Amino acid sequence: MRRVTGIEFRVVQILMLINIWIVGLIVYRNPKTSYFAVKQMFKQFKNAAQGFEISQGIYNSGRYTWDMFNPSWPSNSFNRFYKTHLREYHPIENSPSILRRILVAITKKCPLQCEHCSEWDTLNEKDHMTFEDICGHLDRFVAEGAAQLVYSGGEPLNRYSDLVKLIKRYNGNCDQWVYSSGYNLTQEKAYELASAGLNGIAISLDHQVEELHNLFRGNQKSFLWVKKALEHCKEAGLLVSINSCLTKEYIKADGFDDLVNLLSGWGVPILNIIEPRAVGHYANKEVELSISEQQYLETKVMHYNSAKIKGVPVVLYPAMFRKGLPCGGGRSYLFLDSDGTLLPCPFCRTPITNHLEVSKKCEADKMVA
Ligand code: SF4
Repeated sequence: MRRVTGIEFRVVQILMLINIWIVGLIVYRNPKTSYFAVKQMFKQFKNAAQGFEISQGIYNSGRYTWDMFNPSWPSNSFNRFYKTHLREYHPIENSPSILRRILVAITKKCPLQCEHCSEWDTLNEKDHMTFEDICGHLDRFVAEGAAQLVYSGGEPLNRYSDLVKLIKRYNGNCDQWVYSSGYNLTQEKAYELASAGLNGIAISLDHQVEELHNLFRGNQKSFLWVKKALEHCKEAGLLVSINSCLTKEYIKADGFDDLVNLLSGWGVPILNIIEPRAVGHYANKEVELSISEQQYLETKVMHYNSAKIKGVPVVLYPAMFRKGLPCGGGRSYLFLDSDGTLLPCPFCRTPITNHLEVSKKCEADKMVA
């Protein structure tokens, strides 16, 4: 793995855009239609980004990327993902689905007791979905055009053999990530996951201070598991992101620079900031970040993604874009929970019956509005 900056990074971005235009050309059989669909997509992203730009990417196993929200390039999953994405801007008759990313909770089992757990109400209950049940859902969506799968839980490593089978099944058609606490992620498993076709692992670390991370996660070994898992993933050539849920207290203590320093020292390529939401273990609690707390994070994100800052991870803060983009929950993205219920996302608990007719307004935002 190596960081990609400067001209190389800009050239890669341009080539990606040309690739997307070619995908559109194949879909629409018309260069102008493809051009306008790509332009529309790019314009919407630019407007939502409000000046946010990243200045580096990552080259790993022959592909380029900078996050876990777009498939790495070049790949079949990248082409399939954008074939579906472009339909959002210029629909195609008989292919109405714009669903391109699915988060699937494959188990309720988990050794942790996290403060922010959205799955708290069913944690460690019996798993009812069989491997065939999960494939039944995923096969349909992948056939419709979904090109990115994210396996979560519970702790997905608790259902390890099915996890490996799933990754092998969708390898080649889908970009695939695992969201893990790092629990049980041995070196042998990291190698096996990589050879099954896994693209990356997002491992949770919510504080740079070991005791405080462990307190947040409700387990004294959690920080150690994260550290070990990172080493094993690095060894196996798996791309890694650190997922951090940053609370009001965390922001007040102003430790973000220390977190970035720690991750830079560990050679972590991506830091993904997650906002606490008032669901699950946090239900009915005052945990949603205020505007000024969000602005604090936005300022940090802008700073660390500037081209002047070297040797730090790409810092992502997807909630930043919530204001400027229509909610994709249930339309371009959905959550298959561990009981087989389809939901817009882990925070919105209104089941979906038809992902082709879902509101563009975030239901979780409506709950706290
Ligand atoms: S947040 Fe994830 S790791 Fe933590 S208890 Fe819930 S399922 Fe387990």
